[in-house]
Parts: sequence; structure tokens; C-alpha cells
Amino acid sequence: ESVVNRIAAGEVIQRPVSAVKELIENSLDANSTSISVVVKDSGLKLIQVSDDGHGIHYEDLPILCERHTTSKLSKFEDLQTISSMGFRGEALASMTYVGHVTVTTITDGQLYGYRATYKDGLMVDEPKPCAAVKGTQIMIENLFYNMAARRKTLENSSADDYPKIVDLISRFALHHTSVSFSCRKHGAGRADVHSLATCSRIDSIRSVYGVSVARNLMNIEVSDTDFKMDGFISDSNYIAKKITMVLFINDRLVDCSALKRAIELVYTATLPKASKPFIYMSIVLPPQHVDVNVHPTKREVSLMNQEFIIEKIQSVVESKLRSSNE
Ligand code: ADP
Ligand code: MG
Repeated sequence: ESVVNRIAAGEVIQRPVSAVKELIENSLDANSTSISVVVKDSGLKLIQVSDDGHGIHYEDLPILCERHTTSKLSKFEDLQTISSMGFRGEALASMTYVGHVTVTTITDGQLYGYRATYKDGLMVDEPKPCAAVKGTQIMIENLFYNMAARRKTLENSSADDYPKIVDLISRFALHHTSVSFSCRKHGAGRADVHSLATCSRIDSIRSVYGVSVARNLMNIEVSDTDFKMDGFISDSNYIAKKITMVLFINDRLVDCSALKRAIELVYTATLPKASKPFIYMSIVLPPQHVDVNVHPTKREVSLMNQEFIIEKIQSVVESKLRSSNE
């Protein structure tokens, strides 16, 4: 049974960056305003995510890492919303099957916190009282220690997940402007992502992606009966070799390759001399319009009325690019 669990867990947590994504989403779900990530050896030695969220109650610690345990059912009553937003109570459990998990947490109004360790979906020993600041810190050590082949592949320096982790956190920082994020390598004095909770999106883009990116962006918006989009797209002065597409749908970081391709097409048709674009979009639509049949661990989504939405967005992007180029 443990082998089966490990294989299933290795599907949910495929690389260090997938663990980081799950941990950050949990911190966001816990209403954190500050999230910091520390990574050692591409995440294979250590991934540590600390937040200042609502913490985890003592009584919940024993079941925290049981599969399909989620505390989020009452928050999101509609089952479809839960599955489409990725609440399935599998992430932490999976991590315990493929790494060593330590949770330190304190809930509001408590004088001290608790530290619990987990292995193979179970808590090891009773949680120990300990000093703690507000929120939760989750440590994953020795990820894939029991999956030799996976570990070997990931240990190859060309497979270093750290740049992917930095990219991931930059995306979260860009979208969640009221949360401050930081990410650094263990022992490093300087953070590679450092965003303060600001009020404006363009400020957060400037602090995460730099002045030269922020300077060449234009605000873009669509408001329709069933969907709303707002975002930033690059103008003809922006310079990059690669397309950057940061897409949030209903506040979840996702990919939609059809939309990405469609926007790229508009750029090549409208600004043929411009570089690859930078695109940030936040789309809000009824949760039942997001296709939940796609594998839960993949970021790729498809949407109901996808063609309609894409055409709408294309036409707004096109008119924005045209007017900027006049
Ligand atoms: P899910 O997020 O799908 O509920 P997870 O396995 O990711 O499942 O997390 C299990 C549960 O652990 C969550 O439902 C939540 O109650 C709790 N939890 C995990 N991380 C945190 C955190 N940083 N702060 C507060 N609670 C957390
Ligand atoms: Mg989760």
C-alpha cells in the first residue's frame, strides 16, 4: 500500500516547484498577508514556507496529512468550486509520502504554538509545544528521498527548480498585491523575489519584474455579463525574447494555451516588429465555467464559452495595440 501511495503522491507533487505552489496556495487560503519561501538545493534538501495566516488548530494537526482531508468545505460550499480551485486535501498528504514534513503553527490568541512531524500520511508522535510567531511554517525536507530515479533526474543541475520557483512566486506576487512575498536560497542574505504589499498592480509589477517592464505596459479591461478581465499588456517598446503570460482565473494561477496563442497572434498581426509580449490577465467568471476535467495537478484549464471569451479578449488587445501605435 505504501508504494501505491508513494506513486500517487509523486503524481500530485511532481517537482519541488509543485510543492511550493501547493504550500503558497494554502498560505493564501489561510488569509496570510506575508509569505516567505526559503529553498535549499533546488528544493530537494529543503522547502520552507512561512506565513502569517490563521494557523492550524491543535485538534486538526493529527488529521492534517490524511488524504482527502480539507478544512475548506465550509468556505466553498459548492463542490464544483472546490474541485475547480484545487481544494482536494491531497497536497500535504502527498508531501508526507515523498518527503519529511514538519509543521509549526500557532492560532490567534494562543501563547505558544505546536510543532508536528509527519510521515506517510500520519503524524509522528504528539505535537510538541513550541514558541511561534503568528501563522504557519511548513518545512519539506529531503523531497523524493524514497524515489531514487526522480531524485536523480532532479539532481541534474539542468533540472534546477529554483528559477521555476522564483518565477512562480513572482507570478503570485504580481497578482496578490495585498500580500508581501519573498523568496531566497537558504543562507543567502538577499532575496530573489521581494515584494511589499502595495496597493497598485503596476507598483508590484515594477518591484517584481523591474522598471523597464512596468514602463512599457498598458492597462486593459473587459467587462461582460458573465466574465470580467483586467490586466496589463506590453506595448511596442517592450523588449523580450520570450513571451510572459501570467494568467489568473478566479484568483487561481492557471495556464490556458489557447488564449496565450490567440493573444500572441494579435501581437504578430498588429505589431509585427514588437518583441514577444508580456501579458498579465486576471479573469473572473462563474466557477462552473472552468473545466474541472483537466488533471487537478496541471495548470492547464479550458473554459466554457472559450471561443467567445478569447475573441472578446483578442479584440480588446488589438484595439489597445492599435491605439498605442498611432
Ligand atoms: P487543501 O488545501 O486542498 O484543503 P492540503 O493538503 O493542501 O489540502 O491542506 C490540508 C489542510 O491543511 C487545509 O485544508 C488546511 O486546513 C490546512 N493547512 C495547510 N496549510 C495551511 C496553512 N499554511 N495555514 C493554515 N492551514 C493550513
Ligand atoms: Mg492545498
